[in-house]
Amino acid sequence: MTLHAQIHEWVQRQRPAIIDSLRYLVGINTENLAPRGNELTGQLAIAGMLRSLGCDVDLYEIDTVPALRDHPRYWAERPCTGRPNVMAIRRGRGQGRSLLFSSHMDTVPVGPDAWQHKPWAGEVADGKLYGLGAYDMKGGLLASIMTVKALNDLGIQLQGDLLVESVVDEEFGGCNGTIAGRLKYNADLAILPEPTNLKICAAHHGGLMLRITFNGKAGWGFSPEHPVDPIIAAAHFITMLNDYAVLRQRNIVVPDIYRGNTGLPVLVNQVKAGDVSLPFFGDRVPGQACLTTWLETYPGMTADGVLADLQAYYRYTQSVDGILAAFEPDWTPVRWLDGSAIAVDHPGVKLISRVTSDVVGQPASVQGALFACDGHIFNLFSPTPMVLLGPSGGQPHSPDEYIEIESLFQLIEVFIRTTLDWCQTVDVHLVDHNTDQRSD
Ligand SMILES: [Zn+2]
Repeated sequence: MTLHAQIHEWVQRQRPAIIDSLRYLVGINTENLAPRGNELTGQLAIAGMLRSLGCDVDLYEIDTVPALRDHPRYWAERPCTGRPNVMAIRRGRGQGRSLLFSSHMDTVPVGPDAWQHKPWAGEVADGKLYGLGAYDMKGGLLASIMTVKALNDLGIQLQGDLLVESVVDEEFGGCNGTIAGRLKYNADLAILPEPTNLKICAAHHGGLMLRITFNGKAGWGFSPEHPVDPIIAAAHFITMLNDYAVLRQRNIVVPDIYRGNTGLPVLVNQVKAGDVSLPFFGDRVPGQACLTTWLETYPGMTADGVLADLQAYYRYTQSVDGILAAFEPDWTPVRWLDGSAIAVDHPGVKLISRVTSDVVGQPASVQGALFACDGHIFNLFSPTPMVLLGPSGGQPHSPDEYIEIESLFQLIEVFIRTTLDWCQTVDVHLVDHNTDQRSD
């Protein structure tokens, strides 16, 4: 039997164990209740699983990493204490290329909307496993752990090191866990099993979280002082944002890898005005209305550029909108995440494409991910290039999130075979360096 056939058979044998393990991980509540987190129990479980597979495991508090606080993308508003990262290393024989699987342990909060399937029960129905984090991204994390188990069970020793990481605090633009990880450990290639529906993503969006505050004049409707209602201004602003999103997409230079995609979302996520705790409120106008918006970006765009473009459109709108003409809002950037990309002909992208095509049985597509993530910390701030590849599913960050179980089995097979190919190869650069043949 060929090695590929052995791997396929191994995954098929493990199906019940894989489902049980994912139900176990989904059952651990790791909601990110930003600014605080809830990852500890999950991280201890992951560390235990990887230790039992014979890995060298480093369970470390991220604020013990020197230089974390000096990093340009460190976010001081997000407490780190009691939120350890897990790094597990399955050592190779040496001289091979290393591979890192990096996942985040936190999920978004379960939220106020009703679930048909209990969020932490891991219910299985119609080929789907439901649960908060099943798709984003405990399924992907489990796939990386199963890769280690497969190599052990099949008795495979690699040349290069295989690293499996579970970081804390990724959701809502937290990057501190990934920053700490990259300051401490790197590899020749990283795969982030974020939910990509088995699409290989060589790029990902970034985005700007922006708070906009309209200051009016509080008062009663019958007051001779004429209150100025900032809520009306906020409403006009939201309408303006809709128009802006369309115009922005029309004028923006779309990177090749994003051609034909749905475009960059401009979302309004929070609107806050008036004292909503009161059962009724007469005719008083509040003094302030505040909203937050999330403007997604392509790789290469900058926070300053995004803000300036929106402000320019606001100034234009003021010239035709009598309400907005009377308001100069405060613009407060809350968080900036870069988009990033690696070359589509990077050897890692080519290898993963080849293996995925083979396992899935149809040509794999390489595209840009339609979401922001921690990938930029790899591509822009570390020596480790990063590719995204994760399972299929639906309802991420929403009620009844699910993973398609069959895609998880396929993903595990892709990961095992990719690891074999990548980590068995002796690194050309290492050889060049050791024999001092470099001419540069
Ligand atoms: Zn995620």
